[in-house]
Order: sequence, then C-alpha cells, then structure tokens
Amino acid sequence: TDCLGYALAEDVVAPWSLPNFDNSSMDGYAVLAADVAGATADSPATLEVIGDLAAGFSTDTPVRPGTAIRIMTGAPMPPSATAVVPVERTDGAMGTVSIRESVDEGAFIRRAGDDVTAGDVVVRAGTMITSRQIAVIAAIGAAEVRVHRRPHIGVLSTGSELVDPGTPLESGQIVDSNSYLLVAACTEAGATAVRLPRVLDDDDAFRAAIDSAARTCDLILTSGGVSMGAYDTVKAVLSTLGTVDFIKIAMQPGMPQGCGRVSVEGRTVPIITLPGNPVSSYVSFENFVRPAIRTMLGADVIDRPDRMATMTEGMQSPGNKRQYARGRLDRMQGTVTPVGGQGSHVVGGLAQANCLLVIDEGVSSVAAGDSVRVIECGE
Ligand code: AMP
Ligand code: MG
Repeated sequence: TDCLGYALAEDVVAPWSLPNFDNSSMDGYAVLAADVAGATADSPATLEVIGDLAAGFSTDTPVRPGTAIRIMTGAPMPPSATAVVPVERTDGAMGTVSIRESVDEGAFIRRAGDDVTAGDVVVRAGTMITSRQIAVIAAIGAAEVRVHRRPHIGVLSTGSELVDPGTPLESGQIVDSNSYLLVAACTEAGATAVRLPRVLDDDDAFRAAIDSAARTCDLILTSGGVSMGAYDTVKAVLSTLGTVDFIKIAMQPGMPQGCGRVSVEGRTVPIITLPGNPVSSYVSFENFVRPAIRTMLGADVIDRPDRMATMTEGMQSPGNKRQYARGRLDRMQGTVTPVGGQGSHVVGGLAQANCLLVIDEGVSSVAAGDSVRVIECGE
C-alpha cells in the first residue's frame, strides 16, 4: 500500500503463474467426470469419499474410479481428478456421497496460469498505482516495487489584499483561496505540495520568496500578479530574469500566463505563474500544470478523460478565444449543464462543477442540444 498513488518506474513481472496450481473453484467433490456421467436426481452416482481437502492443504492420493475427494474452494486438485462437482449437486455426505448431476471434464477447475503466466508483465511502468494494481502486485509476491519520486511543489500566493481563512476581513480584503485550491489540486494530481508564506505585492518580498522556494521545490506555482495592473509584481520581477516568458493565451478564463525557470545557487527549478482569479487559476492548472505534474510523476496517462456531451441549455462564448466553462456532466444522460456563470471569480460555481466544458475558438454560441467536448475533472 506504500506504492499507492505513485507511478511505477519499471514493469512488474510475474515470477510465477496465477493461479500457481490447478485448484477447485467451488466447494464440492473432486471426481472423475466419467464416474458421474448420466447422474440425475432419480439415478444418482454414488462415490466413496476417500479424503477431505481444505484450502492450504494438498494430497498425493489420486482419485480412482468410484471414488471422490471432498474439496474446498482454492484447494489444489488431487492427482488424476478431472472435475469438481459443486456440493449443491450432491447430498454433501462423507463416507459415500450421492451425486445428482453430471459435470463436464475440467468443470470447476481453475487452471494454473489461466490468469497470469510466469514471465508476464502484470503492471506496466508508468501506471499510476491504484488498489486494482496492488492486488496483482501482492498476488505475485512482490514485496517491493520501484516507483518514481513525487514532485514537491511550492505554491505562492501574491496580493496585498489577501488574508488567511479565519482572519477577520478589513475593508477591501479577501481570503486567499488560490493557495489552498492549488495545493489541493497538486495533491489530487499525485504530487506533494506546500503553501509558501504568502507575499504582498512587493518586489523584494517576492524575490526573496522565490529564492527560498527554489532551494527546496521541484516546481514553483505562483498565483496573481501577472496581468496588466500597476502592482503586478510577479511579472515585473520575473520578466527581468530573462528565463520566464509572459504570454497571452487565447483562452477564457486564464489569458495571462507565464512559465520558465528560476535559479538559486546552481539549482534551477521550473516555475509556472498562474493568474490570480481563482477560476482562471484552476482552469490554468488543469490545462498547463496538471499535465506537467503527471509528466514529472512518470505517469503514462497525462490528460484527464474527455468525452462529448449534449448541452442542456445554450450559452455564449467570446468567439476569438477557447472557452473553458465550468459544467455539470450527467454521465448517464450524456448531458452537460453550465454552472456558476462565466465570471473568473465565481468559486461557488467552481464547487458545483465536475467538468470543464470546452467551446472552441471561432464558436461564439452553442445551443441546447449541441454536442460539446467536456474534460472530466470531478465526480
Ligand atoms: P491579480 O492578477 O493579482 O490582479 O488578481 C486578479 C484577481 O484575483 C483579483 O481580484 C485578486 O484579488 C484575485 N486574487 C488574486 N490572488 C488571489 C488568491 N490567492 N485568492 C483569491 N483571489 C485572488
Ligand atoms: Mg494581485
């Protein structure tokens, strides 16, 4: 269970087959199928019960014509037995058992190797390990597997208006939600993440915060301070380095973006500067940061699942940008409903969403009944 949520770094190969030996798939009697051919309720076959096999025990005693060995699910098949008769088709007796139904040759036997053959790759490198992979990793006896290290991500909110949750708000202040959103999103993506001490819109304070983050983090995320405002510290400070690009992307929300590298004492770390509006931050995270984290994790599946869904209502879109609206996908119906309006500050709407609804650039409106692409990002 220690490997849960990590990406496997090398193929896991089965040293033995699964099942490892022929065994019974039912509680019943190991028999020669020929001995019970033609058995019916009116004319049952009767066999001498010459042994009793529980799971975990095996026998060298062969089943000879006219005999049976009582056997439990998972017990190794006795030599020469060709089928198992489930107990429900018998009188369940010891001594002499009466069998009311025939069985085919090979019935109710789980054959060695019918699941996994020795030498098979049971889980491929790059797989993000879940409970389903852990079962087979344990079953083939692998006490240890090699996984990739998780990237450690530092999340830095900037903004003189921000305060922590639990602090009384003064005029003009808002609670910093982005750092919590982003730490949670990094963790959900499989990374470890910490909130770095938030900084005011002050160049020196921001420079110092980046310096300190670059010493310990594998990736730095900032929020805020990258648009066209007078106090956009992140952009002001990092632009002068020449290693971080600030660009506009034709998407809504999340138009202003920056990414590049920062260095401190020979350590160079990637940095992605996200816009300050919480919904912009989230949409940018999904588009740019999550794929980066999945790549750093060594995961072979980088992207969220996407699908087409039918709009339950119409909506407008800017036309010159690709819109990532928040939506509520009904998976059974295959329908999607926009939630929370389209403002990039609408965190209430974000909380209701389980998908991003993608309206391509060049499209300025969609109608109820139209089919749109959605990226699934929640339950
Ligand atoms: P900025 O790009 O810094 O001008 O921020 C754009 C908008 O997002 C402003 O309304 C900010 O108050 C808001 N904002 C910035 N950072 C955060 C944050 N960490 N949590 C919540 N809102 C924020
Ligand atoms: Mg700001």
